[in-house]
Amino acid sequence: MEKVRCLIIGGGPAGYTAAIYASRAAIFPVLYEGMEPGGQLTTTTVIENFPGYPDGVDANALVSDMRKQAVRLGADVRSGAVTAADLSKRPFKLTIDGEKEIEAESLIIATGATARYLGLPSEQKFRGLGVSACATCDGFFYRRKDVAVVGGGDTACEEATYLAGLCRKVYMIVRRDVLRASVAMQERVKATPNIEILWNCNTREVLGDSSGVTGARLERKDGSVFDIAIDGFFLAIGHHPQSELFAPWVKTDEAGYIVTDGKTSATSVEGVFAAGDVQDPRYRQAITAAASGCRAALDAEKFLKQ
Ligand code: NDP
Repeated sequence: MEKVRCLIIGGGPAGYTAAIYASRAAIFPVLYEGMEPGGQLTTTTVIENFPGYPDGVDANALVSDMRKQAVRLGADVRSGAVTAADLSKRPFKLTIDGEKEIEAESLIIATGATARYLGLPSEQKFRGLGVSACATCDGFFYRRKDVAVVGGGDTACEEATYLAGLCRKVYMIVRRDVLRASVAMQERVKATPNIEILWNCNTREVLGDSSGVTGARLERKDGSVFDIAIDGFFLAIGHHPQSELFAPWVKTDEAGYIVTDGKTSATSVEGVFAAGDVQDPRYRQAITAAASGCRAALDAEKFLKQ
């Protein structure tokens, strides 16, 4: 069986940054990229808020450069996804693609999270063409335009108020007659004049043409159907952390996010570290994921050298 000092799972900003730091620390990281190399960044287009790129940077190019940098520094980056894990004792045992077994002295989990979508074919058709699950990433492209945010939780309220600062009008599409968000967030939304809440509404269809999204067809609880004209359609109906394989061993919160200890990346299992969106329900940015990947590599290095 192959034995490695530092195994990193996940090919997004957190995993690649962990691999960059772990390579330079000479702990010989092996990284498995998982089912979706590049992670959530591959679902967006241009990134304008990653420091160091005054003209913005193509999201795929950014993540591909992170990968190249990790490889150049010596990381062993492989395709393949972890399909089973036994973290009951060290070395940890992991199975890749259902067949290959590997033992790791330390483990960095950077498997990310996936945004929830409604599951409409039209929503998938316009992903990246007006449909987005990240207002902070893509809101800037809708300056002075009309947009909609689906959801009534804290994320939806936060994204709606963020977009209200950029856009002409923001509709919130809320499926019930109440918001799930905290009272403070609700008050912020209600005090923002260019946010209109469409209560008791579900989205039937995202409308568009070759230029991208042009509107949405909504259905009220009473069965009546109407259209709104919008250029951007933002989903904020929750995220799903990719922690299932590890949840029997490491502590997770009620939503499934891996719990880390204070400002470190340490999980409840000694020698197992978590980085990126799998442990971050709050910030979910490429830059914060990268920073936490750095922390995880430094923590793994310290653990291995103890
Ligand atoms: P939540 O699960 O809290 O809210 C999801 C929202 O989406 C709910 O309003 C829900 O409606 C709605 N929704 C779910 N599925 C559908 C669907 N199929 N169609 C239409 N609407 C749907 O997720 P969040 O991402 O908002 O928050 C996650 C966690 O992070 C929460 O604990 C939140 O408090 C926290 N958070 C905190 C922030 C802060 O403190 N600043 C900022 C952002 C998040 P319904 O209510 O009817 O179920």
